[in-house]
Amino acid sequence: MNDVDRIEAAITQAAQGRASGVKIAGGVVTAMIDMSGLDASARTKLASGVEAAAAGLPGVDTIRLMQTAERVQRRLIAVASGKGGVGKSTLSTNLTIALRRSGRQAGLIDADIYGPSQPRLLGAEGIQPEAREKTLMPVTGAGDVPFLSMGQLVKPGQAVAWRGPMAGNALSQLVDGDWGATRDLIVDLPPGTGDIQLSMIQKHKPAGAVIVSTPQDLALMDAARAISFFETAKVPIIGVVENMSGYICPNCGDVSHPFGAGGAEAAARELGLPFLGRIPLDIAIREASDAGTPPALGDGPIADAFADIARQVAEWIDGGHAAE
Ligand code: ADP
Repeated sequence: MNDVDRIEAAITQAAQGRASGVKIAGGVVTAMIDMSGLDASARTKLASGVEAAAAGLPGVDTIRLMQTAERVQRRLIAVASGKGGVGKSTLSTNLTIALRRSGRQAGLIDADIYGPSQPRLLGAEGIQPEAREKTLMPVTGAGDVPFLSMGQLVKPGQAVAWRGPMAGNALSQLVDGDWGATRDLIVDLPPGTGDIQLSMIQKHKPAGAVIVSTPQDLALMDAARAISFFETAKVPIIGVVENMSGYICPNCGDVSHPFGAGGAEAAARELGLPFLGRIPLDIAIREASDAGTPPALGDGPIADAFADIARQVAEWIDGGHAAE
């Protein structure tokens, strides 16, 4: 083997099949490395591995690597509700986890300026994302979910005062994070139709929206407003989820309907929208959520209910609705 062959072999091996176009001229080695699907830390590791493998070999003075990557086809899926407290954040967390359990590369953006709860729901409170060249690196939460939250940008309660451009800039920081291989990016929106929603539609148009409502009439009227907001903005509604539908008594297992039953399903039908399923009002959901162990990570009927909703969202995405 001559020097050139030796250098080429060292680079090819260290780049794990990702190197091409290796050239050596006057002590300068250049090579292209395909970094598709790798996150920032894996890219750094691979590049320094290649450099280390070539450095010191006879005939090598300088190494120049060109990093290329196929653009990941990423799409945003908004989770929205007409008002707060209906379980929008709970659904966002568990939908993301259920998507990941089905083998998808799903991540989560917590854009709820009024009450960013994802750090708690994902058991990663107090962990700050690193920034590399002003790009935020998502934090890893329960179920290996990569996520970024408004709660990581400011002190609790501070973001509520954000208006217009400030809210929009904060959202952009989260959306433009280093999402690596993440393809399905779930966005937990604030309730209602405020500045974050406007900015979302103008700058980071979601592929589709999932609407969460409880079964009672008032929540449904609010949900209808959210639906019409997205429809006006030409964001397709993937479907409606009914949360807190039927209360399972922790003592006797009986099901009662404190907020009525089937309201969201009937409303979805009336509006000609798909109904994605219902999640019961179950104290175990609140307890698991508060403990940072999302119920979709477990087994049983609750995890199955989230998995079923995730399956329909995945089918919607793969059905070509979410083409970029
Ligand atoms: P939102 O994001 O719409 O404001 P959250 O997801 O934060 O609503 O839910 C509000 C509260 O209700 C939380 O304490 C949450 O744990 C609880 N919760 C949500 N869905 C359920 C459910 N299906 N059963 C029991 N508690 C729930």
